[in-house]
Amino acid sequence: MRVIVAEPTGMCAGVKRALDMAEMVAGCKGYSLGPVVHNPQVVARLAHTGLKQAALSDVPPQSSVLIRSHGAGPEVYKELQQKDCAIIDATCPHVLRLQRAAVEAVAEGKQVVIVGSRSHPEIDAVVRHTEGQAIVVKQPGELYEIVLKDQIVVLAQTTTPRPAWQTVVEYLQTQGKEVTPIETICTATQERQSVTYELAKQVDIMVIVGGNNSANTRNLTAVSESLGTPTYQVETPDELAPAWFTNVQVAGVVAGASTPEWIIKEVVVAMENMENKVPKEQDAAVENTTAPVEEKTTEGEETLAAVEKTITAVEETTAATESTHFTNLKRGQVVEGKVVSIDAEGVNVDIGQKSEGYISKAELTNDPSVAPAEICQVGDVLNAVVLRIDNKEEKIFLSKRRAQEEEGMKNLAVARDEGRILQGKIVEAVKGGVMVDVLGVKAFMPASHVDLRYVPDLTAFVGQTVSVIVKEIEEARRRVVVSRKEAIERKSEEIKQQTWDGLVPGELRDGVVQRLTDFGAFVDLGGVDGLVHVSEISWQRVAHPSEALTEGQNVKVKILGVDREKGRVSLSIKQGEGDPWSKVGNMFVPGQVVPGKVVRTASFGAFVEIAPGIEGLVHISQLSYDRVEKTEDAVNPGEEVTVKILSIVPEDHRVSLSIKDASERPPQRERTDRPERGERDRGDRGDRRQRDDRNHSYREESKVTLGDKFGDLLKDKK
Ligand code: SF4
Repeated sequence: MRVIVAEPTGMCAGVKRALDMAEMVAGCKGYSLGPVVHNPQVVARLAHTGLKQAALSDVPPQSSVLIRSHGAGPEVYKELQQKDCAIIDATCPHVLRLQRAAVEAVAEGKQVVIVGSRSHPEIDAVVRHTEGQAIVVKQPGELYEIVLKDQIVVLAQTTTPRPAWQTVVEYLQTQGKEVTPIETICTATQERQSVTYELAKQVDIMVIVGGNNSANTRNLTAVSESLGTPTYQVETPDELAPAWFTNVQVAGVVAGASTPEWIIKEVVVAMENMENKVPKEQDAAVENTTAPVEEKTTEGEETLAAVEKTITAVEETTAATESTHFTNLKRGQVVEGKVVSIDAEGVNVDIGQKSEGYISKAELTNDPSVAPAEICQVGDVLNAVVLRIDNKEEKIFLSKRRAQEEEGMKNLAVARDEGRILQGKIVEAVKGGVMVDVLGVKAFMPASHVDLRYVPDLTAFVGQTVSVIVKEIEEARRRVVVSRKEAIERKSEEIKQQTWDGLVPGELRDGVVQRLTDFGAFVDLGGVDGLVHVSEISWQRVAHPSEALTEGQNVKVKILGVDREKGRVSLSIKQGEGDPWSKVGNMFVPGQVVPGKVVRTASFGAFVEIAPGIEGLVHISQLSYDRVEKTEDAVNPGEEVTVKILSIVPEDHRVSLSIKDASERPPQRERTDRPERGERDRGDRGDRRQRDDRNHSYREESKVTLGDKFGDLLKDKK
């Protein structure tokens, strides 16, 4: 196996400077307000040389006190000055720049938004410098409920991944505010994230070395995982498990900004001593754009060979001690254990040894939002992988997550082969996509597979349980790629097929109006769209579908026809409601006087609606006691009128009405304008021509009879 170490990696200038100062303070038996760096091994070394850790209130007067590279709030400086302490300030210049930018923005009356972790000491100090006015968020969603000032300065914790800061900046820029982005991410962080990204693309496995409580180390892990490369974060070489390196040909190593060189070397040497080394000739084929570990040995430094010797000796001793303290237990072994106690940080497990095994929260699950008590209960039996055996403390460190991963990888392969849809929880948004916990395996979902459409803010999906299908598995690299988009497409295809299978003409169905056109409305019946022609929307006259329907409206439809070959379904809303003419005989009787509304006019009369979907004809001769030459001279569409029902023929959908008979006959007027005979003849011929025109129009109107048309004339003949 070839091991490639990223360059640059490990301790940054800010941490080195802080350590130099810490050694000075240790020399005069001084104090540090908390761990100098987030690396337990380095902290232990400093403690050994005399540096004491204390809370501010416990620092004795006139002591030497180190301010860590994270910086401190103004109240800390004040109290130390009051105690007449010597302050050795190791605040990193990058952190000072962030503090200054925040303080200046607040002084100018602007809103300060910092992208980072509120509980991190660096950010806690910055917020204190702004007297609590800075808002700290990890993602845009946390800003939705907050009323912000019009001018906003967006800063970043020095170790924040750039895309996270960029996402918040872009969100705020869409909110109509004046946004000033100031990129306060330190160059060391950016460089380490970028080399991690490049290296993770080339190797089969990535090992990230750094403290579990180190934010910048965790961010490097996230960057590597974002590419789907199997990634393991370790503090020391003891945590490396041989099982991770099965079939691995090339492994990458990067380290957090607080990891010392000697720990990186120990990890590299331990990796190279894993059993499944890659033959030398295969090494030559691997492209290497970063410095291989051998090149890192410099004159005066402890040689790798020497380190290797030391490590081997330590391992031999460890193996001997392990066999003394713990029977039949090896790193990488899967053991069964019973949960005996649970707290917020992890669980203790009885594995039948003289000491209990311990599973930290991070080794219980891939989902950082879940507490140990939500994962297991006292008495539960679970499988876990042995990570490390600490003979000194007589402690066995286990990982349930990694045991699950072994099982999960097998089950994922079966699910992929069977094309099954699985449930997974999106646990974090990373560069280029999201990480999903599926069957205990952390799988990568590219951004283009999160939804059917482009998703501008992937963080909105974090915490959601979604359906996924397995697209790709690379066993050797333990890399799994899943897709929610393809799961949605598959499900909708299944629903569509079920809908087609269940469509029976004559049945009533619930549907949702999808879109309106000039000729009708398309209604979704469950993956299948059917057409309701405009004439089938309502028993009332509808000129355009938008008069009666809106997109998204729920409707009940009757299936009129199904053409599976052409993929067409014809529907009717009005037939689903029942024919109003079937009830008309019970609602009205001839001679009844009822209110109505003129819905349209024709040359031979006016159509009046007397109930929803029930229209009757008022013949032109029934419009008024006066002679009416043109229908519109008497009534117009939209006018409210009172009509008398003359006759009802429900089976023909026909009602004859009269406005004239619904009103009182006016007194007879004396005629003074009788025309001369010739004039009268011309008038009669004109009337006949008009009647001929009306007949022509009238034939075009359905459901109107000759009786309607010649109503008065025929009545006179009786
Ligand atoms: S990581 Fe960056 S900000 Fe933090 S100490 Fe190092 S150089 Fe300074």
